[in-house]
Parts: sequence; C-alpha cells; structure tokens
Amino acid sequence: MSDLRDLYQEVILDHNRHPHNFGELDGADRHADGHNPLCGDRLAVYVNLDGETISDVSFLGSGCAISKASASLMTDAVKGKTLPEARRLFEEFLALVTDEGAVLDDARLGKLAVFAGVRDYPTRVKCASLAWHTLRAAVDDRHEVVSTE
Ligand code: ZN
Repeated sequence: MSDLRDLYQEVILDHNRHPHNFGELDGADRHADGHNPLCGDRLAVYVNLDGETISDVSFLGSGCAISKASASLMTDAVKGKTLPEARRLFEEFLALVTDEGAVLDDARLGKLAVFAGVRDYPTRVKCASLAWHTLRAAVDDRHEVVSTE
C-alpha cells in the first residue's frame, strides 16, 4: 500500500512540476476564476466549446502542489468530453475526495483516482476540488469568483 501511496505522490508532484494545459486560451468561450482562501490557491480555468463538447480547456494560476496537479489532471480528464460527461466526472471526483463509501468507476476516473488520499485531510479537499468548482462555474457561465469557503 505504501508503494501505491508513493506512486500517487509521484503523479501529483509530476503534474505540479510540469502541469498539462497550463496557460490562457486566447479568446476562450468561457472563463472563471477560483480562490481557496484557506490555502491561498488561485486558479483561472478557460474553456472552448464545440456545441456541447469541451474542445479545449486550460488553466492558469498559482497554489499548492495538490491544487495545481488537480487542475492539470482535470484538464486532461475533461478535454473532449461533453458537458454532461464532464459534470458526471465532477460529481464522481467530489465523491472520491469526500465520501469514503462512494462506489466509483475506477476506469472512468483513471489518474484522478490519485486524489483518493486527500479524503483523510479535509483542508486538502478544497485544494483538490478548486479546479473542478472553477470549471463548473466556467461552463455554467458564472462570473463571480468561485470560493471554496
Ligand atoms: Zn492548496
């Protein structure tokens, strides 16, 4: 089990050092800002839509390793997904990080499963979920800054 934990940490550290889809999308269809005051994480999420499909997604921001790695893995996970698929993944991710008894589809979660470990650290749940809350605000076209508080 500790090997698995090391592997998970490795994935998070790697995405923190080399985040995927990092940067602003020029002329993005949707955009939202998120803030986690508890930790100081700030993220902006940019989305391009092709009908109901997320054709491109990126993020910018600064924060702890968990918030950045989560944003990086989130962009990989939702790119090419339809909005209903992305919403379902958002709900599954929240269940993953908050609900010990949740029955989840590991195949669909893929690498997102590395965040199961944050369940034991309630303050870290906000770091891990910030990118997802911000994505949801972007696709819902809400413009106020999303706060985890
Ligand atoms: Zn954080």
